[in-house]
Amino acid sequence: NSPDRCRDTRAEISLDAVAHNLRLFRRNAAERCRIMAVVKANGYGHGAAAIARTAIAHGADYLGVAIVDEAVQLRNGGIDTPILVLGHTPPHAVAAAIAQGISLTVFTDEVLQEVMESARRLKRQARIHLKTDTGMGRIGLSSPESVLELALKAASSSYILIEGLFTHFADADGHDRGFTERQFSSFRACIDLLAGHNLSIPIKHCCNSAAAMCYPEMHMDMIRVGIALYGLYPSVNARLPEYPLREAMCLKTSVIDLRQIGDGQTVGYGRTFKATATRMIATVPIGYADGLSRALSNKGHALVRGKRVPIAGRVCMDQTMLDVTEVDGVRTGDAVTLFGGAETGGGIPIDEVATHMNTIPYEVVCLIGQRVPRVYK
Ligand code: PLP
Repeated sequence: NSPDRCRDTRAEISLDAVAHNLRLFRRNAAERCRIMAVVKANGYGHGAAAIARTAIAHGADYLGVAIVDEAVQLRNGGIDTPILVLGHTPPHAVAAAIAQGISLTVFTDEVLQEVMESARRLKRQARIHLKTDTGMGRIGLSSPESVLELALKAASSSYILIEGLFTHFADADGHDRGFTERQFSSFRACIDLLAGHNLSIPIKHCCNSAAAMCYPEMHMDMIRVGIALYGLYPSVNARLPEYPLREAMCLKTSVIDLRQIGDGQTVGYGRTFKATATRMIATVPIGYADGLSRALSNKGHALVRGKRVPIAGRVCMDQTMLDVTEVDGVRTGDAVTLFGGAETGGGIPIDEVATHMNTIPYEVVCLIGQRVPRVYK
């Protein structure tokens, strides 16, 4: 009687779709290019462990997470593939990461110092990737000289392996290629400076999904594939014929109640939906606490008996109402799709939901809450 079984609302995840998406990158990248499956934020809401296992089985060499806790969870789940923490690690979390063989991103002297001391104390080699900021304006060392200084210090410790050097693109999914090309040449300049000091770094990487798809010449030693693994395009610019992605997540629930309302009657908080004729309203047990954004109130759609129906009134915390007047023979218990399933025809693309929410598809899937069970297909 696991709580997962107590509700019909669920996010169905197609691991076949994830495997297909990973294989596209494997096919389009050079054989020597590693693939990092980015599974931070619980695998963009899809479930980190299941996605990681599928990606590894289909050719991923590395996993990427945002924070040490996410990496530790994967290790505790029995995953021993290399994992890189892409974000900042506070000094107090460094030892835990080294103890579990987790690679760390380093861009400050403070963290490097802690890595050196912890590794010596634990008598374990720590793997680090140095991060340089070439234009994202977020984290990382912003000049090649400062990278060199940190790299020389790291290289002086026999307990440290500088396994990687990386940067992150700010606009790889944008229209104008100029900025990405400038970031890439700054990154190359940094690599060359280190090479001139006998520091040759095995894994140099800069491509996220968009760059991996749109700039194959920038793949270098590894690509970091996040959003595309889940079958979502970072933007329209990345919709390339070589990458026919398949969406992995489909959010489903079922009709729990039905009522007919008459002309002038209203639905939901604030009475924002007002019937102008007799309407049939269905209630579904999913709301903004599950990650179905309140921004979809009177805007979003669902699929009932193969028919697209509008959300009627405001999305509530745990429930949402749909105008199912146009659906023939609708009954309680009928299956409802909130998004996904578009590739098999008649579904609701996650891109469309993102547009209604005035956001990007990344946020749509990341928002799906913990109380929605993930069901793997
Ligand atoms: N690399 C880094 C450093 C990131 O922060 C991210 C995600 O934001 C990725 C790679 C993956 O990006 P995407 O999901 O666009 O492929």
